[in-house]
Amino acid sequence: MGRRGPSELQTQVLAADLCTACGACLGHCPYLKSLGERVAFIHPCPRSEGRCFDVCPRTSLDPESLDRQVLGAPRRHPILGGYDGLYFARARDADVGARGQYGGVTTALVLLALESGMAGAALLTSGTPTREPRAVVARDRDTVLAAAGTKYSACPTLEPLAGLLRESSEPVAVVGRPCQVAAARKVEAREASGRLAPVIGIFCFWALTPAFYRFLEGRRDLERATKLDLPKDGGMTFAVNGRTATVRLDEIRPFIRPACQACFDPTAEWADVSVGSTEHDAAWNTLVVRTARGRDLVERARAAGALEVKPYPLERIPVLEEAVQRKKLRVLDALDAGQPEVAYLGLREAQRAAVRAHGRA
Ligand SMILES: Cc1cc2nc3c(=O)[nH]c(=O)nc-3n(C[C@H](O)[C@H](O)[C@H](O)COP(=O)(O)OP(=O)(O)OC[C@H]3O[C@@H](n4cnc5c(N)ncnc54)[C@H](O)[C@@H]3O)c2cc1C
Ligand code: SF4
Ligand code: SF4
Repeated sequence: MGRRGPSELQTQVLAADLCTACGACLGHCPYLKSLGERVAFIHPCPRSEGRCFDVCPRTSLDPESLDRQVLGAPRRHPILGGYDGLYFARARDADVGARGQYGGVTTALVLLALESGMAGAALLTSGTPTREPRAVVARDRDTVLAAAGTKYSACPTLEPLAGLLRESSEPVAVVGRPCQVAAARKVEAREASGRLAPVIGIFCFWALTPAFYRFLEGRRDLERATKLDLPKDGGMTFAVNGRTATVRLDEIRPFIRPACQACFDPTAEWADVSVGSTEHDAAWNTLVVRTARGRDLVERARAAGALEVKPYPLERIPVLEEAVQRKKLRVLDALDAGQPEVAYLGLREAQRAAVRAHGRA
């Protein structure tokens, strides 16, 4: 492959509306900036090759090489990726549980990573769920707690990463959507070996564009909502002043980010641990332990009394797998049709066949 850089990032990703707003390309180039959740060159960059292209999760993604890099082995499962444990879990600290989106597992694990010295700083996404969120570098409990809760848009959380890696030698914890986890692993492979600890992925099937927040500005009844959710029975719910309002999903769908339609990884397959809803009990999370570092983090959290973990109900596993497989199959169909928005994905024929065959008798 020839040299690739800013000009290819512009044509293949930014101009093609395939940017996931992960933020990985920002922070080391004076010409690339974010305006809220929009990433753009503010001036043409004269370089013919560049890190911006290399770290982007939408320039090229090779699942097999990421499996080798992160798991050290081929994936165990064609749909859920590599893992050695699947659980229901929740935070034991009442404050964390109350602020968390579901069981507060992500917040509990970040606090443990900082308090145990495993990480010196954590990259998080903060703000209220009805306004554009912002990336924060957390080093203390209050900042971590303030970042709890899901913001349903694509904040470029990784924007401060380049500066953090440059300016100190401390390990940095990352909490991100699956596209951000993939980008963080590309950064790690290129220039940050051993510096990202731990990487916590949150499940994500789609994120919304900033136009969603403008839609909310026109809905005075919703703008003070403290929590948004996507319950399994449909719609998007808004918790406002002790009551719940529901907006139909067909009103929300027009705000889905175009890049999310081409996304093959809803469960953050290259995280140390991945955390999602249970689609069953809002007080608990689904917890996927993927790496030795992830196992260490979870065991430390259990030993410290920060986390409660129980086996994943066997009858729920097919429900999770079906939801993930459905999203993967849509992307495989786009690959088979030669659609350019999925050309970033370097999937071998055997991997495609394994995804298609899964669950067939
Ligand atoms: C856009 C989006 C869509 C999602 N869709 C699904 C879904 O369909 N199914 C499902 O099971 N789970 C989904 N999730 C994940 C889910 O909402 C919870 O984040 C996850 O289950 C962790 O729950 P928790 O109780 O541990 O979170 P908490 O303890 O509250 O921690 C949440 C963490 O998420 C981070 N965060 C919040 N918003 C963002 C963001 N926009 N980008 C990056 N990081 C963020 C915060 O920094 C915080 O550390 C989605 C998340 C996002 C951001
Ligand atoms: S690295 Fe992330 S923010 Fe930058 S262009 Fe690629 S997807 Fe967008
Ligand atoms: S659906 Fe995929 S591309 Fe879109 S924000 Fe979520 S992880 Fe990123």
